[in-house]
Amino acid sequence: MTDPIETFDMLGLGFGPSNLALAIALQERAAPLKSLFLEAKPSFAWHPGMLLDNADMQVSFVKDLVTLRNPSSPFTFLSYLHAKGRIERFVNRKTFFPSRHEFNDYFAWVAAQLPEACAYDQRVTAVHPVRGKGHRVEALEVVTTDAAGATTTRRTRDLVLAVGGQPHIPEVFALLGQDQSVLHSAAYVTQGKPRLASRQTPMRVAVIGGGQSGAEIFWDLVNDPARPQVDFLVRGQALKPSDDSPFVNEIFDSAFTSEIFHRSEAERAGFLADYANTNYAVVDGDLIAQIYGLFYEQEVTGDERHRLLRSTRIEAAEARDGGVELSIRQTGAPTQERYDLVILATGYRRRLQETILSDLSAWFLAEEADRGYRLPTVEGFQPRIFLQGFCEETHGLSDTLLSVLPLRAQEIAEGLTGARPARARVLTAAE
Ligand SMILES: Cc1cc2nc3c(=O)[nH]c(=O)nc-3n(C[C@H](O)[C@H](O)[C@H](O)COP(=O)(O)OP(=O)(O)OC[C@H]3O[C@@H](n4cnc5c(N)ncnc54)[C@H](O)[C@@H]3O)c2cc1C
Repeated sequence: MTDPIETFDMLGLGFGPSNLALAIALQERAAPLKSLFLEAKPSFAWHPGMLLDNADMQVSFVKDLVTLRNPSSPFTFLSYLHAKGRIERFVNRKTFFPSRHEFNDYFAWVAAQLPEACAYDQRVTAVHPVRGKGHRVEALEVVTTDAAGATTTRRTRDLVLAVGGQPHIPEVFALLGQDQSVLHSAAYVTQGKPRLASRQTPMRVAVIGGGQSGAEIFWDLVNDPARPQVDFLVRGQALKPSDDSPFVNEIFDSAFTSEIFHRSEAERAGFLADYANTNYAVVDGDLIAQIYGLFYEQEVTGDERHRLLRSTRIEAAEARDGGVELSIRQTGAPTQERYDLVILATGYRRRLQETILSDLSAWFLAEEADRGYRLPTVEGFQPRIFLQGFCEETHGLSDTLLSVLPLRAQEIAEGLTGARPARARVLTAAE
């Protein structure tokens, strides 16, 4: 006899900051909701492959998981500092921007206080519709696999997708498949750094991509005790600074979500393009100054070990002698360079049709959520699906960031706990 399938009111896919913020919002409402978040990792970790020493947050600690909604919550960053006995020393530092190590520790501290909220080591591998009479879909079945390969199926009335972005691998690298010499930035600390340390002779490394992650990895590599020789390949002529000036920063205010949502498609696109330099292909000004200083000092000493290759296009990438040979075009004919390790700091893709929900797309009326983050679905499809982090085009640039998490979580919690027009009866396994 097989185990009965456990049924939930809500299953959350992924347990990063977005769904962690939702777990707090649900707990605060004491909602009579049977809910569970499913997370692939064995324990809470926020972008562990980019937990670099000396990397700071790019958002104020005030924009933590809850303060904007409820500053008296026990889950604020200040409550965390107080619990850890560091609050006065944090004040002495006079900064709004904790290190990423510290913010990850804060997130993990919150997650540890909600032990029942999440099942870890549960990678969601499929989501199937549960059909009722006629063409009705009454619930969803969510299948997960753990590290040992055991699968579990759970059933839910509603679902919240917050699985983050997929590492973007440029097409020219696609043919290299699983080659160990090419890594996305998402695996830099976990896989790239151990490889540097394991080599007797210094490695030749290429970092591709002139945004914040590329710049941080370049800076980390040049300071690594394994002393690799590093080429930093960027598409533009210059590293450009991120704009975090106060008027511009208002686009991350929560009021801006409605402001942009109610604009026309063309106006929304215009806004995104206009403010892209707050988040995309830009680097923190202090880090740019440090990198510029490094290249200047190399000129002074004549030890030009690291290079900034500007206006580059990678035209081909081939596995060669245990490394990768890149065909790099700047001006004129392409040059060939062999590297032991290539790090792709090429960003993330967030497309609903590339997620685990793609099999349900026949029931979606559109791929765009409504203002309350709910996907419109065809009549007779009763489960409600909410999206976190997949609505940048409609809800603005803050959607993939931490800026509005507490308020978005509240809106979704309201959506989940509010009356549903025609409440679905969830079939039990026996039925
Ligand atoms: C290096 C780095 C630094 C950043 N720094 C900042 C910053 O300073 N400020 C800011 O505002 N934003 C920052 N961001 C943006 C970042 O997107 C947000 O900080 C935040 O991580 C978004 O949270 P999330 O929960 O939506 O997604 P994620 O943090 O990506 O979490 C998604 C979770 O879903 C899990 N998951 C994925 N697929 C499955 C599956 N099939 N089954 C089960 N679980 C799954 C993942 O393991 C992960 O834990 C940064 C991003 C990166 C990469």
